[in-house]
Amino acid sequence: MSTAPGGRADGSATVVSVKGVNKHYGPLHVLKDINLAVGKGEVVVVLGPSGSGKSTMCRTINRLETIDEGEIRVDGELLPQEGKALAKLRAEVGMVFQSFNLFANKSILENVTLGPLKVRGMKKPEAEKLALELLAKVGVANQKDKMPAQLSGGQQQRVAIARALAMRPKVMLFDEPTSALDPEMINEVLDTMISLAREGMTMIVVTHEMGFARKAADRIIFMADGQIVEESTPEEFFTNPQTDRAKDFLSKLI
Ligand code: ADP
Ligand code: MG
Repeated sequence: MSTAPGGRADGSATVVSVKGVNKHYGPLHVLKDINLAVGKGEVVVVLGPSGSGKSTMCRTINRLETIDEGEIRVDGELLPQEGKALAKLRAEVGMVFQSFNLFANKSILENVTLGPLKVRGMKKPEAEKLALELLAKVGVANQKDKMPAQLSGGQQQRVAIARALAMRPKVMLFDEPTSALDPEMINEVLDTMISLAREGMTMIVVTHEMGFARKAADRIIFMADGQIVEESTPEEFFTNPQTDRAKDFLSKLI
């Protein structure tokens, strides 16, 4: 995709720009010349077989992983290497993982206020007001005083989304957010993500939920063996995949 610095062909801003990124784990070339530009408000769904580098790619975007070569920018800013600048940039990138990663010894409300209090320097009443708004938005405001273990997996994952949103991120990364959930809880999390997308949140979503991909994605990225091998609209990808790898991947879905 051709992108001018700080902007896209259609005039909208680029929120995440990944250029020429390579990464190795010892002898394993895990990311091979990854190029990706995600525009403001765009929802990019990343598909691909297990081990293709999807999680690693996501993790490089907020520098949970280093890269060997290339350049990653969030909202035009180069990813800093460490220190305060990195903490600030991490706050711009909300991340939701397969495991909910809530703080087990803190209440639901405290889980959501912690980041704004510590990283954003918000005052407590303001942070609590924000947290309650976000908990209401994801439908768990009535659970605010409980501890994470008292909530269902689906509720915990929605709290994890609220917690990420509390930092007012420029982009949300989701890495298989429903893979650890019981089937009956998957939709409540996907529905929360769909409403976020409709509100214009910029999102990168790794998922195996093809219904979600068809419905919510503006663009599908298909990865195999550390490379982006296909990039298209959901319509094109699901009806007319171009590569054998993508055809094979789709043929194995139930
Ligand atoms: P995906 O999310 O698509 O399943 P990953 O990004 O998790 O793929 O992994 C890509 C490849 O990198 C896999 O072969 C995996 O075993 C390997 N890998 C992931 N993390 C590490 C690590 N910390 N050290 C060594 N190899 C790793
Ligand atoms: Mg993964």
